Amino acid sequence: MAGSKVLVLGGGFGGVQAAISARATLDSSHEVTIVDRNRVPHLCGMNPLLIVGERDTDKTGRSLGRLANRGIKFVEANIDSIDTAGQKVETSAGTLDYDYLVIALGAAYDWDAVPGAKDAYSFYDFDYARHLRRRLSRLKRGKIVLAASKPPYKCPPAPLETAMIINWWARKKGIRKDIDISVYIPEHGPLGVAGKEASMRVRNALDQRGIELITQAGVTEVSANGREASFGDGSSTTADIIATVPVHKMPDIVEASGVSNGKPWVPVNKANLETSTKNVFAIGDVNVVPSGEFAIPKAGVFAAGQGTKVGEVIASRINESHEPEPYDGIGFCYMAYSGGRSATVGGEFLAEGGPDTVLSEPTVSGMKSKDRFERDWRSFKI
Ligand SMILES: Cc1cc2nc3c(=O)[nH]c(=O)nc-3n(C[C@H](O)[C@H](O)[C@H](O)COP(=O)(O)OP(=O)(O)OC[C@H]3O[C@@H](n4cnc5c(N)ncnc54)[C@H](O)[C@@H]3O)c2cc1C
Repeated sequence: MAGSKVLVLGGGFGGVQAAISARATLDSSHEVTIVDRNRVPHLCGMNPLLIVGERDTDKTGRSLGRLANRGIKFVEANIDSIDTAGQKVETSAGTLDYDYLVIALGAAYDWDAVPGAKDAYSFYDFDYARHLRRRLSRLKRGKIVLAASKPPYKCPPAPLETAMIINWWARKKGIRKDIDISVYIPEHGPLGVAGKEASMRVRNALDQRGIELITQAGVTEVSANGREASFGDGSSTTADIIATVPVHKMPDIVEASGVSNGKPWVPVNKANLETSTKNVFAIGDVNVVPSGEFAIPKAGVFAAGQGTKVGEVIASRINESHEPEPYDGIGFCYMAYSGGRSATVGGEFLAEGGPDTVLSEPTVSGMKSKDRFERDWRSFKI
């Protein structure tokens, strides 16, 4: 097909890899365009180390304008609506039409779902993380509460990892004996998605570090002064710093487009990530891909893998070549236990017979590999 237009909505993990992968096998008669409201998106995965001063705030982003070197057009604009019947998207920079659409808009945060959360601390967003970093740098003693509200949320290890990094940082600063750290999660146990054994090992790791873990206790409210939190199990606590994981939701414009068919996240064909509308794909945090009793976690590695697959699928349709192998659901996330050691958790989420996952031991080489992952992200390799 000559002169096709591939339009990718969102320049995060998924969107960038979809565009790169499609561009790799399409000739220059076809256009590949990415739209994002942020020219320089930040890597949320750096936030747990950023809040304790272990990452520079000016080294967490990548400029989407640099994709022009790879033949990908970048449009900096807010996306206002998606019309799949008319094959067009309304943006603050005008109307864009397409032949193939990739929705990679991620998960939105519903800060109002937990009263008080918006004005409390968080490490789930770059600006919140910078604010928390400033607060932590002044902290000498007191209680820190990290509290998730309800699943699904991005990177399920993140609250656990963040608690262990804060523990490491407080020890290094010599203030650990004056700091209490508690993590409240809504799930039955930590990291359930990785299986019972991994969950138990994470419990032990937190316990050994003197970090209190309270399960089945999603945060329901934070007081106006940000010093008291209430939880779904009826308990409450006071603390000096309360940092929440916001409630995640599908972006409103995706819901309004109808591609989710009234579901909370966009259902897709798990082999090629296509929605119920032909040539409209949804990848990464915005979709749901069932995996055993859970779903593929909302993590960048899966968004990137899905992006690569969708790029191949679109290119194969345009080039009229063979449809690629089905998406495999393979991915590993890093889970740092300190500023110097990291484990990985993940595996094959679409394996026959259910997810086949493993949590590795935290090692120094694991942290080096995490550092490499961050560098690779900044240079668009992932
Ligand atoms: C604290 C934390 C730690 C994490 N650690 C890891 C980790 O170690 N490993 C890992 O793999 N993942 C990690 N993640 C998860 C990872 O960041 C997300 O899963 C990943 O970013 C999802 O990719 P995506 O492409 O689906 O969406 P996103 O990366 O969220 O990209 C969506 C893009 O769409 C744009 N957008 C949205 N709406 C609009 C609109 N209306 N108009 C224009 N643009 C719009 C946004 O600006 C954004 O750039 C972590 C997340 C957090 C919060």
